[in-house]
Parts: sequence; C-alpha cells; structure tokens
Amino acid sequence: MTGTDFFASLASGSKANCYVIKTADTVLLIDAGLSFRKTSTRLMSLGLTPDMIDAVVITHEHCDHTAGLPMLAKNINAPVYMTEACYLSYIRSKGFDLRNRITQIGTQKEIRVKSSVIETFSVPHDSADCIALKISSGSQCYGICTDTPVPPPPDFFHGCSAVAVESNYDPEMLKCGSYPENLKYRIMSRCGHMSNDGAAMYAAELGNRGCLRIMLCHLSLENNTPEIARRTVGSRYRGELLCAAPDSVTLCAGNLSDTHFSKSQEKETQTKEITPTKLTAEARERLLPC
Ligand SMILES: [Zn+2]
Ligand SMILES: [Zn+2]
Repeated sequence: MTGTDFFASLASGSKANCYVIKTADTVLLIDAGLSFRKTSTRLMSLGLTPDMIDAVVITHEHCDHTAGLPMLAKNINAPVYMTEACYLSYIRSKGFDLRNRITQIGTQKEIRVKSSVIETFSVPHDSADCIALKISSGSQCYGICTDTPVPPPPDFFHGCSAVAVESNYDPEMLKCGSYPENLKYRIMSRCGHMSNDGAAMYAAELGNRGCLRIMLCHLSLENNTPEIARRTVGSRYRGELLCAAPDSVTLCAGNLSDTHFSKSQEKETQTKEITPTKLTAEARERLLPC
C-alpha cells in the first residue's frame, strides 16, 4: 500500500452508494450499495483490494447503501459498523445471516479504527436511523452527509477539507416530473432528500468554515442534472465543486499515482464530474430513490 491518502466515491445515487477513504494506515469503506465485483474492480482502480479494508460503516439500511453488504461481508474479515436502530431494521428485513458480523455503534457515537476516528451524527430520513460521518486521521479530515434534507450543524464538519454533500433534486424538475405525488412529497419532506438549494445553503456554511471542496452526491437521475446542481450550489459556494458519478469512481480529494491505473481499470474510473450527456442517457432508466 502506498502512503497516498484519498477520499473517493465508487458510486453515488439512487442505484448504489459506496465511498472509500484511505489514510496513512487505514482503508475505510462507507456504505456497500455496489456488488462485490464492482466494489473490487473500483477499489483496484485506486490501487486497493477488498482485503485491505479495515472497516465498513453503513450510514443506513436502504438498499442503495447495503445491497452489496452480504457478499462483501462474506469476502472480507473487516468489521461492519451500524447504529443500533439500523442494525435491528437491517437484520429483521434482510441481513439475519450477518447478525454476528455487525458491530453496533455505541452510545459514544464514535468509532476508532487504527489512527482514524469516525464521528457520527444522526439525521432525519425515512429509515430506522441515518448518520452523517466525519472521518479524521492525522491532518486529514473528510465528511459525508447524504440522504437527508437536515444535515448536521455545519460545525460538525469543522476542520474537514472536503465534504460529500447530497444534492438530490432540483425542486422544479421534481414538481414537474413524472414521479407519483406521494413520492414527490416523500422526497421533499423532512425525512426525504436534500435539494440543490438546500445543498447550496449548506455548502456556503461549510465554505465559511474553511471547507475547500464539496463533492455533490446522490443526484437524482430523473430530477436533476450535474449542470443544474453545480450551477445552483456554485451560486453560493466559492470553493471547488464536483459531482460524484452515479456508476464509476470519482476522486474527491487526494492524489493518485498513474501507476495505480491499468488500461481496463481506467475505463471504469472517472475522476472528473459526469457529463450531462451521460446522465441524460442513464436517465431513461426510471429509478426511484431508495
Ligand atoms: Zn436512503
Ligand atoms: Zn440513498
């Protein structure tokens, strides 16, 4: 393993969510919405293998965050962390065989993995529990907050150089779109998702606290585009902005050596924001937010 630190999204959106944070001595996987095969391929494109993972942290039990967890847990020995409410909901509905593999996050709401400290903050969402995360190791500090329109107080992410912030939908596109009314209501509710406008206000607050880079995440394929999300958030946030691709790697922070990339892996890996053309093609698939 090299000493290079980075924070990357392996997938982000209503289909699958998975992030990796590599520090000097720790590899953390946040959420496991991708298949084991895709997770492995995308980790390899970053110079990692699944057996290097030191811990998996699940933000909440929705399928776009846990679909790949059973196979992942079978193939690696690392602990899987969830809050108690998330654990109970998950094992009741689909993860019974994993009950001995999951470690519940204690009341201190903090996880220590080697030199990394992961702080959690419960946020409203239509799941049993949903957490935002702040990951600190040495001088590096990153944040992740998706699947909620009510993020933690901005001070929670104090010291983070880069934060993944949900920017799920453009309100006009959602209102005029083809989703059923009850689903529109659910998405816009306090237990739904963050709009571009919400992300813009939040990003501005994070920018005021020194956050240099925001990766917009969990963009709806139906009710948003990277262009609109970037324009809306960029109107209030002056730092670096990028959009996480729905189904490929997006490097949010850190540097990768060219030696990490093989030709075949390069196709799988996207370190720039997704193009509107690609998103429009994918938007033909009708995907409901999970
Ligand atoms: Zn969710
Ligand atoms: Zn989700």
